Amino acid sequence: MKIAIDGPSGAGKSTIAKMAAKELGFVYIDTGAMYRTIGLYCVENNISTDEYESVSAALKNISIDIKYTAEGQSMFLNGEDVTDKIRTPQISSAASDVAKIKDVRCFLVEMQKKMAEKNNVIMDGRDIGTSVLPDAELKIFLTASAEDRAERRYKELIEKGIKTDYETVLADMIQRDKNDSEREISPLSVAEDAVVVDTGGYSLEKSYEVIMNLIKENGGVKYV
Ligand code: C5P
Repeated sequence: MKIAIDGPSGAGKSTIAKMAAKELGFVYIDTGAMYRTIGLYCVENNISTDEYESVSAALKNISIDIKYTAEGQSMFLNGEDVTDKIRTPQISSAASDVAKIKDVRCFLVEMQKKMAEKNNVIMDGRDIGTSVLPDAELKIFLTASAEDRAERRYKELIEKGIKTDYETVLADMIQRDKNDSEREISPLSVAEDAVVVDTGGYSLEKSYEVIMNLIKENGGVKYV
């Protein structure tokens, strides 16, 4: 079974997808982490993420590995564990920049499709229902207002000890929404056959319950 969860940053996709994958025994694939890993490579190697040709040329030097442990998905960039390094605001914006580049998307979408061939998966991202897994049995578009999402992301960053303020997080969220929905290739959009869930005002538990019910109703009942 393939489940696609798309939506803007901070809607709660990864937390909910991770919990659901654990419950179902599915593999959770966080595709945003893959774009972040390429963003990190560019930042660490002084490659401007606006220079499409340089980023595309760098892809041949990038090897991304994903390993699964009890704690979840770990990301490796050329053998180095970068799971924590890719979570900073700087890398969020580098990821959003490299995600506009056609060669980057082709490189990652191919990896993502291959990963879904062999496993029952819950994959989250921006283009999963529209481009990576158009044949997914269930497509969910998880969303909430920019203010609600920024508030959540702000709390997460503070908990991780990353210094920031709410206004900066909100501005970054709005900028990323704009980047993600206005880019030419695979912009963030709702797949025709997706179920839209607005998590604004929902607790994490409530959002999880809504998603699990959708999964059960759409053929996932045998895995629960
Ligand atoms: O999901 P996350 O916020 O970690 O993703 C980081 C960035 O990667 C997003 O802002 C988006 O630009 C890009 N992305 C994408 N397509 C995906 C997943 C992420 O373009 N499937």
